[in-house]
Amino acid sequence: MIWKYHTSSLTVAHILWEKAMQITRQQAAAAARIAAELARTGFALPGTLSLQRYRCGKAHCRCRAEPPTLHGPYALWTRKIEAKTVTRRLSAAELAEYGPLFENAKRLRALVSELQGLTLAIVEAETDAQQGDAGP
Ligand SMILES: [Zn+2]
Repeated sequence: MIWKYHTSSLTVAHILWEKAMQITRQQAAAAARIAAELARTGFALPGTLSLQRYRCGKAHCRCRAEPPTLHGPYALWTRKIEAKTVTRRLSAAELAEYGPLFENAKRLRALVSELQGLTLAIVEAETDAQQGDAGP
């Protein structure tokens, strides 16, 4: 079935798609739960947050002693800006403020991945059924 992503026809196309596909009650419930969780998820920042320790360039620093005491940990926000990877160190206050926004982003990615897996299972089941019909 061919359908387009135009905003006006999206709902109609979605309904047609759901009618055409064999979607179980369980799959429909899972899709509804994912949609509800997506709707509940708030603002989200792009990129990743990591905590890192490092050695500086000074020759006689504690980070080069034996055993070494590395600098940090520092909260680093890494993301792509116009195809370039940009890393910014966050202050403790920024980390506290932005941390939940990275958690939301992670949650969104997990939900989208779950929805894609669910949709793939539906499409693959449909393909298997069609091939079964056409088979010997
Ligand atoms: Zn150092």
